[in-house]
Amino acid sequence: MTTELSPDALTGLLERARQDYQDLVGRGLSLDLTRGKPAPEQLDLSADLLSLPGGRHTAADGTDVRNYGGLQGLPELREIFAEVLQVPAGQLLAAGNSSLELMHDCLVHALLSVLPGAESRWVDQERIAFLCPIPGYDRHFALCERFGIDMIQVPMTAEGPDMDVVERLVAEDPAIKGIWCVPKYSNPDGVCYSDATVARLASMNTAAADFRIFWDNAYAAHHLTDEPVETAGLLAACAEAGNPDRAFVFGSTSKITAAGAGVAFFGSSPANVQWLLGNNAKRSIGPDKVNQLRHVLFLRDADGVRAHMERQRAVLQPKFETVARILDAELGGTGLATWTSPKGGYFVTLEVPDGCAKEVVRRAAEAGIVLTPAGATHPYGDDPRDAVIRIAPSYPGLAELEQAIEGLAVCVRLAGYEQQAG
Ligand code: PLP
Repeated sequence: MTTELSPDALTGLLERARQDYQDLVGRGLSLDLTRGKPAPEQLDLSADLLSLPGGRHTAADGTDVRNYGGLQGLPELREIFAEVLQVPAGQLLAAGNSSLELMHDCLVHALLSVLPGAESRWVDQERIAFLCPIPGYDRHFALCERFGIDMIQVPMTAEGPDMDVVERLVAEDPAIKGIWCVPKYSNPDGVCYSDATVARLASMNTAAADFRIFWDNAYAAHHLTDEPVETAGLLAACAEAGNPDRAFVFGSTSKITAAGAGVAFFGSSPANVQWLLGNNAKRSIGPDKVNQLRHVLFLRDADGVRAHMERQRAVLQPKFETVARILDAELGGTGLATWTSPKGGYFVTLEVPDGCAKEVVRRAAEAGIVLTPAGATHPYGDDPRDAVIRIAPSYPGLAELEQAIEGLAVCVRLAGYEQQAG
């Protein structure tokens, strides 16, 4: 990433960066780029949810949604999301408001009760490990840490995890029980898995008979361009490859309707769905079907979801364009950084010279710009290269975002040139 600079040129650039940083600190900013959450104007797009279901309380089949029951969730809502999540409605479960909660529960249930195809519970085994493509989502890593699951890092490529590495590891180690995947517009690097990656994941030989792919399709419908990316459906691919129980598909409307009041989904083989329903029946007498009905009335069908996501895009796209424009203007050609241009999702990944990410984040914080901690994109919060910074542009308004990215660019120049100057 570094370019050769003459000592004089470097001194000049460093002086300017120091001056710009002083000016930045002098501005007394208070900005936050940590939150991958929808902005208020995005939530306003779903304001009608607050007045729905408008006195209605019966589902299509006559179920009174106010009452107990219906553990699998409203069929008409599952129909809508079957297409979005590439899971037949009969194999889809509509649950509470958080898919992370479902991932948590699946881990707990797999630890405490035997999975279809397994000989014993995970908790009875000496060691359990998951593959973690990096950079990745910190909350996946936090779940592994929470349950004592070892994390084995796998590098990401432009097509998803490096499948040569994945295939080798899962074939030789029966302790590897799973892999975390965010297959579309991945958090944080925006990568979309290629058809070849999906096919290889579905068909690879695993030493563990109870191996599961935690397919966190959090950004399945979250496009930022006119060319929505299509990814191959993992569940069908697994069934075709003779591994029908391998895929656990997760998704939610957190970043479609309301991040704190949406609906989460789980999709899998009939055996896995029965396994989860059986376990869930012990912890709940049924999900919030009023919220599910509200979502049916608001979104109507898969076309309704698409139309709604176009409105989301109208809010988000200018923010991502702003990030790209400023990074390009301020850091393009410096050799100090590269960044992603995602076609969807919620994040931009900024890579700075090795050894500089923590320093950039520290400098930014001192100037009043809070960034996601460096290292959060890696297991145990430890990025061995100390190079990756996750930018979350969704929440701030455009004017604030501009200030924050301009300030961030100053911090990158300062940390980068200081390192080069030794
Ligand atoms: N999965 C990924 C990859 C995410 O980025 C997020 C939120 O940032 C979530 C899951 C959280 O999903 P939910 O709100 O459904 O719990």
